[in-house]
Amino acid sequence: MNAQRFYKNKLALSILYILLISLLIVGCKGNLINRDHQPTAKIKESNHSDLVDETNDITGKLKIHFLDVGQADCILIEEPTGHNMLIDAGNNGDADFIYSYLKEYNIKQLDYAIGTHPHEDHIGSLDMIINNFEVKNVIMPDVPKSTQTFGEVIQAIANKELLNTIVSVGQEFSLGQSKFTILAPNSNEYDDTNDYSIVIKLQYGNNTFVFTGDAETKSEHEMVASGMDLSADLLKVGHHGSGTSTIAEFLYEVNPKYAVISVGTGNKYGHPDDIIMNRLKIHEVEVYRTDEVGTIIASSDGTNITIDKNASVIDVNTAPEEQTKKIEKIEITEIDKKAEYVVISNKSGVDVDLTGWKVVSVNGSQTFIFPSFVLKAGQNVKVAGYGAKNTGDIIWEEGKGIWNNIKDDPGELYDKKGKLIDRY
Ligand SMILES: [Zn+2]
Repeated sequence: MNAQRFYKNKLALSILYILLISLLIVGCKGNLINRDHQPTAKIKESNHSDLVDETNDITGKLKIHFLDVGQADCILIEEPTGHNMLIDAGNNGDADFIYSYLKEYNIKQLDYAIGTHPHEDHIGSLDMIINNFEVKNVIMPDVPKSTQTFGEVIQAIANKELLNTIVSVGQEFSLGQSKFTILAPNSNEYDDTNDYSIVIKLQYGNNTFVFTGDAETKSEHEMVASGMDLSADLLKVGHHGSGTSTIAEFLYEVNPKYAVISVGTGNKYGHPDDIIMNRLKIHEVEVYRTDEVGTIIASSDGTNITIDKNASVIDVNTAPEEQTKKIEKIEITEIDKKAEYVVISNKSGVDVDLTGWKVVSVNGSQTFIFPSFVLKAGQNVKVAGYGAKNTGDIIWEEGKGIWNNIKDDPGELYDKKGKLIDRY
């Protein structure tokens, strides 16, 4: 009896042991399977290098349509494998135009419809889009508004039993062969609704595009400070070219070859701002404006970007060589070591953005960096040391004795990129 019980117990133990092992194996496998099948939307730090490796399989051309919706935004992204996305949907009055445009290009479904922020010139016809096209995902920032336009969009979302997807910075989404990453908003609360704008970076092969909505200075500063890779071949200029967006630091980080400004002819805001146009010119960006050329189409094969030939390049890029040379005529015209000031002159016929430029006292080893500042054509600016005899237009910094009065102390002027412009 005892021996029988002993063997029974041993058998039971063995079965238990085998069961446990099996469970462990199945459990491990289960984990591995789950890990391999994470959803496409995932939180990711700013590491885009792994995306670059995925260029081999790119087939066909990605088309980005910047629809001419006047003083508003509406961007259609057409992926060659049949995946589409819409970023903003113009004003309420643009519904018919946007509808026919999408029909013309045989767009039936949109993987994503993004309303960058709840202003009418961005979500005006978003309700029409949701009501008439097969929209799979709606993405808008979490900023409810009491406007009729916003109410109509929310109603359309509800009617289609969709949900507004709230996204966070660093999140990635795939769109056919392309991917896009959320760059902004980086905060939960802003004074300005524009700063809630969802900013995305789209990658197709080796080509990259940054779409900014109406993000302004605050959001741009946050994006720069975040350390994310903002670089892009093409930038959709923020807030229709307003002077309150496209700060020099942001533009420097994005460092685009092309820029598109979606803006209305003769708009009451004076968009795009001269300062921004000049800033783009200084950065040698090829600028396309919807008010000048109408709808703009940028095509990418994953390596090269071509802009629709009907779209024409603005003056700056087609200007004769002598005109483009003019922008480099910034000189140091005077240094008074006793009175502690330096005069910088714009001897060209165009305004020059000196933001981020540097004046260096070579032997004194002191550097002045220009704050946000534009030197008008033909004008001078006097930068004086703090407490200097002659007050300047701009004060260098606290403390005296910038220039070395005994030894020879040349002054040097460097542009934003660190290129030596002049030595005095
Ligand atoms: Zn706007």
